[in-house]
Amino acid sequence: MIQDNELTEDARRRIVARVGDWFDEHRRDLPWRRSTPWGVMVSEFMLQQTPVSRVLGPWQEWMERWPAPDDLASEQAGAAVAAWGRLGYPRRAQRLHRAATVISEQHAGRVPGTLEELRALPGVGQYTAAAILSFAFGGRAVVLDTNIRRLLCRVEDGREFPPDSATASEWRRAEDWLPDTDERAAHWAAASMELGALVCTARSPRCEDCPVKDSCRWRAAGYPRHDGPPRRTQAWHGTDRQCRGVLLDLVRQNPEGVTVEVALGAWAERVQAERSLAGLLADALVRDDGGLLRL
Ligand code: SF4
Repeated sequence: MIQDNELTEDARRRIVARVGDWFDEHRRDLPWRRSTPWGVMVSEFMLQQTPVSRVLGPWQEWMERWPAPDDLASEQAGAAVAAWGRLGYPRRAQRLHRAATVISEQHAGRVPGTLEELRALPGVGQYTAAAILSFAFGGRAVVLDTNIRRLLCRVEDGREFPPDSATASEWRRAEDWLPDTDERAAHWAAASMELGALVCTARSPRCEDCPVKDSCRWRAAGYPRHDGPPRRTQAWHGTDRQCRGVLLDLVRQNPEGVTVEVALGAWAERVQAERSLAGLLADALVRDDGGLLRL
């Protein structure tokens, strides 16, 4: 919940400036920050549910193989799923392939540069569209990821964590924080996200290194513990998601095809394996090619 006693305009402006200065000195040299709009878009798809450290390698390989949307669009979706490797949530690869096809057919092979056009692409939601506009085109858009939400919640609300999903009042507040010009808004989006990712982390914030430690209400209040509903954590072990990942990996590693029996034998729980395989086939992540499973 956002408190009524918002920081003043001046206080917010000072914090934005300090976070921006900190960013200029400490920003990570991530390859997609030196890339094309397509490179930024690929990174945003990969980063949706996967940390930076696991995205770096696959992103490089992806961009070497498909340096532009047309390159990806000219291949089958299965090639994208295969190259997605172990990034998880492979439906993102299919959507990225579909988005590349739309860009190729409707935007002359160039990633479009307006929020409306970006939102119309497969797999691009409100957050991803704003992030591409901001990071690739230097536009003004509310980029509200989990790092920025946590940072604003701590600095302004004096609370440890925001709710599990972003509320309407958080979106309004983020809009209020956004500087007026395109350039400064894009700088703030990148800088606040980086501060949340590197310093104001979920479990071990490094407050001594924080450029806004003197203005942080959570710190001033003595770090009161989260007292809201228990936070959602993503289970993995033994889930259908893990099972799907195991089956998909097996098919990916055997391009000549795998029989259904061999695939189902890769998971201890037969019923769960059948359900997961049915899901992969329904999502067209795997196809049944005359009794052999292939991408
Ligand atoms: S002082 Fe600590 S809790 Fe507050 S914004 Fe900085 S890193 Fe986060």
